[in-house]
Amino acid sequence: MIFNLLFPRRCPICDEPVKLNIIRHKPSPLPPPLVGLICPACYPKISYLAEPTCLKCGKALSQAGENAAIEFCHDCAVRSHQFDRGLALFEYPCIAGSLSRFKYKGRQEYAEYYGAEIARILGKDILAMNPECLIPVPIHQKRLRSRGYNQATVLAKVISRHLGIPVADKLVARVHATAPLKNMNLEERQDSLKSAFNLMENDVKLGTVMIVDDIFTTGSTIDAIARELRLMGVNRIYFVALSIGKG
Ligand SMILES: [Zn+2]
Ligand SMILES: [Zn+2]
Repeated sequence: MIFNLLFPRRCPICDEPVKLNIIRHKPSPLPPPLVGLICPACYPKISYLAEPTCLKCGKALSQAGENAAIEFCHDCAVRSHQFDRGLALFEYPCIAGSLSRFKYKGRQEYAEYYGAEIARILGKDILAMNPECLIPVPIHQKRLRSRGYNQATVLAKVISRHLGIPVADKLVARVHATAPLKNMNLEERQDSLKSAFNLMENDVKLGTVMIVDDIFTTGSTIDAIARELRLMGVNRIYFVALSIGKG
């Protein structure tokens, strides 16, 4: 708290120092774990993923209104994934600016809010999946040196603190630097990610794991890591993403 007074945390939405609601006449609209992590005025600007969501990747099912029987998004209906199931918190567009500062502008502190929100909203589901560890999607050594941190590791550590699940950030390494996936189609992504990841241990004795990333788009990255984990006998592979695109 003293630290917060001296160096107020920046709000993940407006990037201004979060206003500390010390003197308030009306109760804060924020749920208790979020006080001091986001401005009360910015909180309503966030949109959470609306139910129902895809039973495989966690994307919101936009067509479900007409057909309540739809369980999977179009992507997951037409192709198989290497992971078992995923969870996500935010619709990507509402958090795009925030995520970009989190990754490229050194705003590691946003992870305190992101992680607290994941724990508050998805924590029960995550714990029900019973993962033995959280595996952050690794970035290449070169990128780690220039950025100074891996945003997925920073996020995983906060989730870990809230939910008591250990972080295994040395298990998977990104051995090939890949070009940005943003402008690639699905096949190009899969191609580019082939052999991008390596397991750093030969004797992995894990049954259930949860991969952590900041954004889920096509799932190619998670699939590439899950493939390696499966080869080592990991049985149940889940992921949690801070944000996800539309299905
Ligand atoms: Zn704000
Ligand atoms: Zn899906």
